[in-house]
Amino acid sequence: MKKVDGEFIKGRIAPCGLHCGKCFAFADGDISYHSGELKKALGNFDVYAQRFVEMLDEPVFAKYPDFKEFLNHLSVATCQGCRKEKCKLFKTCNVRVCSEEKQVDYCFQCSHFPCENTGFDEHLYKRFVAINRRMQEIGIEKYYEEVKDLPRY
Ligand code: SF4
Ligand code: SF4
Repeated sequence: MKKVDGEFIKGRIAPCGLHCGKCFAFADGDISYHSGELKKALGNFDVYAQRFVEMLDEPVFAKYPDFKEFLNHLSVATCQGCRKEKCKLFKTCNVRVCSEEKQVDYCFQCSHFPCENTGFDEHLYKRFVAINRRMQEIGIEKYYEEVKDLPRY
């Protein structure tokens, strides 16, 4: 079992507050892990999916190849998290570089928070502000406890 300390949390919660650990692209994330496990559990289901279309009269099984392709995609996630590499999702994000310049681990620790420098769209900016306010209110460890089992989406 991995030790949950400040460094562990920093590996999962980005400077903006978003939870990389729950991102579909995160290599060590729940989505990638469970997709790999589901892939293993399904084994050679391709053959059966085809048969079940007629045997069970369930056309939904014809969609299995697309589902499998998507599951494969989720199971080979490679992102090491925001602090280690550029985010693949939010290409206009300024936060990581800015937080390094300001020498803060999280934006709520910055004297400019909430700033207009994030590069986020309106939706993400609202989440950024709400998350950082919550982290500010209860502290990063408690915040992590609060969100560690919640989906990000
Ligand atoms: S850096 Fe971006 S792509 Fe990578 S895990 Fe975090 S949110 Fe996902
Ligand atoms: S200026 Fe804004 S983006 Fe940069 S560290 Fe401070 S709060 Fe975060």
